[in-house]
Amino acid sequence: MATIFSHPIVALTIGRLTGMPPRTIAIGCLLSIVPDIDFVAFYTQYEDWHIIGHRGFTHSIAFALVLGFIATRFFTPHRRLDRNRWKSFLFLSTCTASHGVVDACTDGGAGIAFFWPITEARFFFPWNPIQVSPIGLEFLQWEGVEVLMSEIRWVWLPCFALIVVHRLVTRRILAATIRGFPNESR
Ligand SMILES: [Zn+2]
Repeated sequence: MATIFSHPIVALTIGRLTGMPPRTIAIGCLLSIVPDIDFVAFYTQYEDWHIIGHRGFTHSIAFALVLGFIATRFFTPHRRLDRNRWKSFLFLSTCTASHGVVDACTDGGAGIAFFWPITEARFFFPWNPIQVSPIGLEFLQWEGVEVLMSEIRWVWLPCFALIVVHRLVTRRILAATIRGFPNESR
C-alpha cells in the first residue's frame, strides 16, 4: 500500500482541479483512505490474494461507486437529484477509486482487484515508481523514510504542480475574461 498521507493528497488535487466545495473535498480525502480498512485481513486467516484480503474488494471500482453513493446521500447537503449531486457522487467515487490507482503504481504487495465482482483477478500498472509501504511499526524505521521520499517525489510533487498550474491557468483565463468585458460593451 501507499501511506495514509498520500491518498488524501490525490483526492485534494482532484477536488481542486474540479472546483469542488471544501467540505466535499474533505469527505473525498477521508474516503480515499477507506479502502485500506482491509488491513484487518492481516489479522485473519485470509491470504492477500483472497478477495477479502489486502487490496481485494475494498480497492475495486464497484466498492468506490457504492461508497461514493452512500457518502453523497448521507454526508453532502444535496437533497435533490440534480447536477450538483451527480458531481459530488462522481467526485467521491473517483476519490475512493484513486486509492487503488495509486496502489497499482507501487512496486510490491498484492495486485488490485479493480474489477471485482466481475473478476477477482489482481492488477498492477506496468509502471510502478512508488515504493510500497511496510505494514505497522516497520514504517517508523528507515524504510518508512524511503517510502515517504518516494511518495513525495511521485505523488505529492506532481499533485502540487498540477494545483499550481491549474491555479495559474484559471487566473489567466479570469484576467483575460475581465479585460474582455469593456471591449464587448463597445
Ligand atoms: Zn490500499
